[in-house]
Amino acid sequence: MPFSQVHGHLRAVQLLQRLLTNGRLAHAYLFSGPEGVGKATVARAMAAHLFCTDAGSLEPCGVCPGCLQFASGNHPDFLSIQPEGVSIKIDQIRALKKQLAFSPFAGGMRVVLIDQAQTMRREAGNSLLKLLEEPPPDNLFLLIASEAEPMLPTILSRCQVIAFAPLAYELAAEIIADHSPQLNDQEALMLAKLSGGCPGKALAMEAAQVLPLHEQIIAGLLEEGRSRAKIVEEALFLAREMAALNSGLDLVFDLLRLFFKDALLDALQPDSLDNNPAAVVKESLPARERWNLSQLSDKMRAIDAAAKALARNCNRGLVCEVLMLQLIK
Ligand SMILES: [Zn+2]
Repeated sequence: MPFSQVHGHLRAVQLLQRLLTNGRLAHAYLFSGPEGVGKATVARAMAAHLFCTDAGSLEPCGVCPGCLQFASGNHPDFLSIQPEGVSIKIDQIRALKKQLAFSPFAGGMRVVLIDQAQTMRREAGNSLLKLLEEPPPDNLFLLIASEAEPMLPTILSRCQVIAFAPLAYELAAEIIADHSPQLNDQEALMLAKLSGGCPGKALAMEAAQVLPLHEQIIAGLLEEGRSRAKIVEEALFLAREMAALNSGLDLVFDLLRLFFKDALLDALQPDSLDNNPAAVVKESLPARERWNLSQLSDKMRAIDAAAKALARNCNRGLVCEVLMLQLIK
């Protein structure tokens, strides 16, 4: 993917393009920022630029051997390291060192992408540090790290750090919709909000398939004209569906919190959401008519309590039942 197709991150992209075109690249960069925000996408755009042999153009030409090899995933000078299991191991760094003993095959630059670099333990980190201290010529190191875990300071000191901030919700929603055309606008926006403006994370949520269940729950909560017995039956049914999720129950709680938060906001300031493109308005309107302010805030508290109970490993079935009976009232 060339730079022209990277959405957002304008400052980082402009800086890197400038460095690429005037040949003043450092030998190592660390892209730091929340997971799924687009760091790897930008790293790949840099690689695409470097591998294009049609010098002089700002964008990769897409037709030269370098472009074609990189696009097919077979460029001999693109090395990508991912964690094996939960971390990047010292053996992976040792293997990398052996590969770097040779000059790049195509005669240009070699790009070494180290994804989730924050997972390196001290041993692997120190091994990589030696490479960064005396980098073999014609190699560009691109380290990608989420902010969740701190990096070894010695590695940080050897890299130019470029920080990536979350995207605006509307932009994140556009990217999500591009990748998942089956989502409608509202779903894409909801995922963008829930992921905190990190489209990669949102797409992972989409893959966990929690949205259909969320929609089912909201429909169940808002249905009118049922007997008391039917309401309890519906709550228990939805609770079972929730508890049966293999993963993503925490995401369902997050989505419910978002729904009630918008309904609360809508009740506090009617019409405020009409001017807020990031709001999940459609369903929060009936919720506002159905429940008053204090009921809505009770429901928010019930969701928080359920999330805490889940984190404490309480019985999932029970947590979901208690929650649904409180929400459906
Ligand atoms: Zn090219």
